[in-house]
Amino acid sequence: MKKYALKIEEKECWGCKACEVACKQENKSKDGINRIRIHEEWGKKKDGSQDFIFRANICRHCDNPPCVDACPVEAIKKREDGIVILYEDECTGCGTCIDTCPYNAIYFSDEEGKAKKCNMCFERIDNGLIPACADDICLAHCIYFGDARKIDNMIKEKFWLKARIEGKLSTAVITIDE
Ligand code: SF4
Repeated sequence: MKKYALKIEEKECWGCKACEVACKQENKSKDGINRIRIHEEWGKKKDGSQDFIFRANICRHCDNPPCVDACPVEAIKKREDGIVILYEDECTGCGTCIDTCPYNAIYFSDEEGKAKKCNMCFERIDNGLIPACADDICLAHCIYFGDARKIDNMIKEKFWLKARIEGKLSTAVITIDE
């Protein structure tokens, strides 16, 4: 069975939030419900100056998802392809999953009385498409979807090409794993 991965290269993120918009449009999310949320995280550089990075808050589709075990009505399931799906029709709104998610990736809609999270746009995937946030809308091109190993190789390749463009490398031979 093919396993899917959705990867976000946070250090390359510009904070444009195009992914948030695409996700909201795709899921027709109400105000206050962000299945993916981009936020700034501040820190200090080694020299003491201030630095920040954009972080993405989104379901990690864990290998052993605690939310699946926590849901008393089995409304959250992990598919063989790795996608963890919260079936909102079956959700009773008890909120147990929200407390167990270590990534704070599940939101509660007061209006609908249901939990919400990223389901990796599984309906799109099942119809041969890719998740809305990864569908070539990221201005920084830092959201990838597909085979995890291929994604890692693409990120490596991008790193080396960027280094060459910036003159940090000479004419080195670049080898990317197949
Ligand atoms: Fe893991 Fe949280 Fe996603 Fe469940 S909702 S799979 S616990 S990241």
